[in-house]
Amino acid sequence: MNRPTRGPACPSSSRILFVPPDAPTIDYRQLLEVERRQLQSELAELGFGDGGGLEYDSNFADSSQVTAERGEAVVLAGQLRETLEEVAQAIGRLEDGSYGRCEECDVAIEPARLEAMPATRFCIKHASRP
Ligand SMILES: [Zn+2]
Repeated sequence: MNRPTRGPACPSSSRILFVPPDAPTIDYRQLLEVERRQLQSELAELGFGDGGGLEYDSNFADSSQVTAERGEAVVLAGQLRETLEEVAQAIGRLEDGSYGRCEECDVAIEPARLEAMPATRFCIKHASRP
């Protein structure tokens, strides 16, 4: 089912985005847009493309095996959606000028951290996850 066709085989290792070393300023919006598109395509591959929440066709419930497989996809899609939501919120913060500050202590988040995790809302001290 997961044939190695093209693109990154491991999503978690493909999150680091390339930025030219001599770029005067990091284009966070660009990073966020790239991440958003990637998340959307991952969701689409799982069958959770546009619209639609996480609820799924109740016909699937008839087979426990299908339900289990579907359940994994639902969990994964839920995580992708959460990340997608964070990316969308980060883009919103870029627009209102509050981007790059920790929600907890309001300190400016290090550029290297933002570069690696453009959607993060917290400084390294208050990071809610690695
Ligand atoms: Zn903080």
